[in-house]
Amino acid sequence: MPATALPRIRQSSLCRAPAYTARSVLQRTLILVAATILYSAGFSATAQTAAQVVIIRAGRLFDPTSGRMIDHPVVVISADKIQSLSEDKAAVSPTTRIIDLGNATILPGFIDVHTHLTMNVGGGGYEGLGVSIPRAALIGAKNARLTLSAGFTTVRNVGAEGYSDVALRDAIDAGDVLGPRMQVSGPPLGISGGHCDNSLLPFEFHHSAEGVADGEQAVMHRVREVIKYGADVIKFCASGGVFSKGDNPLLEQYSPAEMNVLITEAHRLGRKVATHAHSSIAIKDAVRAGVDSIEHGIFIDEEGINLMKEHHTFLVPTSYPLFWFEQHESEMRLPPWVIEKAAIIIPAAKKNVAQAFKAGVRVALGTDAGVYPHGQNGGEFWSMVQLGLTPVQALQAGTVNAAELMGWSDRVGVIRQGMFADIVAVRGDPISDIHALEHVQFVMKGGVVYKDEISNSSSASRTQ
Ligand SMILES: [Zn+2]
Repeated sequence: MPATALPRIRQSSLCRAPAYTARSVLQRTLILVAATILYSAGFSATAQTAAQVVIIRAGRLFDPTSGRMIDHPVVVISADKIQSLSEDKAAVSPTTRIIDLGNATILPGFIDVHTHLTMNVGGGGYEGLGVSIPRAALIGAKNARLTLSAGFTTVRNVGAEGYSDVALRDAIDAGDVLGPRMQVSGPPLGISGGHCDNSLLPFEFHHSAEGVADGEQAVMHRVREVIKYGADVIKFCASGGVFSKGDNPLLEQYSPAEMNVLITEAHRLGRKVATHAHSSIAIKDAVRAGVDSIEHGIFIDEEGINLMKEHHTFLVPTSYPLFWFEQHESEMRLPPWVIEKAAIIIPAAKKNVAQAFKAGVRVALGTDAGVYPHGQNGGEFWSMVQLGLTPVQALQAGTVNAAELMGWSDRVGVIRQGMFADIVAVRGDPISDIHALEHVQFVMKGGVVYKDEISNSSSASRTQ
């Protein structure tokens, strides 16, 4: 649906405005209905009327732009946007609803630029062959709810067969399903037999994954095709991977010429490009071709680090799966090729990604959720700190940096006037205890409260 996809990348807050009012009131009503249904199903949610002004008070607010905490913030929300942010007080009318979060810290809703909502753990191997596209979309509906509940109010879904991610995004936008704001890629592009192909079946099946495209002409066609069917962002596989049968993460897959065509065409059509890239040569060729983000970047070397800094390319390190996998590998019934590759990848990733962090490569938070259970996305914060980011840098990666990578700096990633009212809260101070970010206790998206385990249980007045 190009009509849906086009404004996502290019729309400024100005050009969004004319279409906003009538459509959004309807959507908002549907979201409120959905939120109420969810409430009865146990995922705490509190609805308010569309026109109501809401004030949030808390102990601290994390401002990712300055990297500083603001004490005693007062955030005023009108409809789905932030009207103002001040310290200590704001005008309260008799109809104003006050949400008092006590000593909690409020933060902008988190952003995950690398997730697989339509995939469950184990869904990428042989078990995945039995999952239909409609079933994948429904798996996505479940995982979208879990992701939102974990405090991630915006995500970028990088790779889904059958455009199940497009359906999920549109269902969330329409208020049919609860979940984060989404940018989606549709099927990821890749070479025959590569990480983005599906090489599990023998020759007789003549099976290829949907995004497979070989040669410059085919790559150009595939970019145009995924955009035609609703992609907001282009994902491609520049190198081999861990979960793919018969390929090598240390080798490049697309040629530099194919990458140039792919990225140039995507940019010409207003889409950013994310590439799965493990090998150092694939990382460098993709960066030289102008890719917007390197996903994983496991075998990045010094030359690659320098190139990324020169080109201002984001690294999306997907660190949490490295730690999660070590703990859970034995329970996962993995094929032998995955175990062999993981044994090489995990120590290399920890070492090389730490080097990239130290050198000051720009980082955006991506979790690769779907490789491990959805809803644990907050684990990416401490994992990046484990590899060398400061807690403030990790939070910036999951807010302002991620918003910039998505081209959405004008709407999400910071609590400021005119931005979407996407606000989360945790108890305590996440700068001194990064693990607090794994236990998000308040979630508001677009002015609607989806989770509140703080003000509900406190004696503070919620309504005046
Ligand atoms: Zn991934």
